[in-house]
Amino acid sequence: MKDEVLFKLSYGMYAIGVKDENKPSACIVNTVFQVTNTPNTVAVSMNHNNYSHECIMKTGLFTVSVLSEDTPGTVIGALGFNSGRDTDKLANIRHKVLAEGVPVIKENTCCWFLCKVITSVDTPTHTVFIGEVIAGSDKAKGTPMTYDYYHSVIKGSAPRNAPTYRAAPPVEDGNDGEEWVCTVCGYLYNDPDVSFEELPADWVCPICGMPKSAFKRK
Ligand code: FE
Repeated sequence: MKDEVLFKLSYGMYAIGVKDENKPSACIVNTVFQVTNTPNTVAVSMNHNNYSHECIMKTGLFTVSVLSEDTPGTVIGALGFNSGRDTDKLANIRHKVLAEGVPVIKENTCCWFLCKVITSVDTPTHTVFIGEVIAGSDKAKGTPMTYDYYHSVIKGSAPRNAPTYRAAPPVEDGNDGEEWVCTVCGYLYNDPDVSFEELPADWVCPICGMPKSAFKRK
């Protein structure tokens, strides 16, 4: 079978809030789905190497903030392309820390809910945590961001640890392509109205915040 067959599966975009002993952190995943409704349970798949994985293993708690189409790409960049081990990923992101010590994201998100892990399934690379929903926001608003929207409209890509990560084709210098790709997050710049060269010198990647120098012609 070709791997492309699985690229036709649909996903959403979610921020997973976690805490370790002292501080809250968060990461981005695209694999969250409801498992049952009495009680409400959801599953999330997380790479073993993620700091958030370590936090969930320790505390048995996580939140899910459902990103909307209006959630800025920079939120995805800050939470999805850094490690909470060495950065305060929430430093520049509007969020609220719940009484349980785990954060929820307030950047035009649709809604949030808090989960307590009731069981998990291990695989060689990822753990699927199944959590019971024990609290959540009163309202749900906005249009949830799908993974396809993130790819096709925001032009983002998956970090290496995501279950849906796809290796990008190698980027070479020196050809005449009109598309520029961010070497950090995979964001593709191809605005037909403003060439990459015309962008101001202080322009930064809308996803991960890296400068123009981090881009290569595709
Ligand atoms: Fe980037």
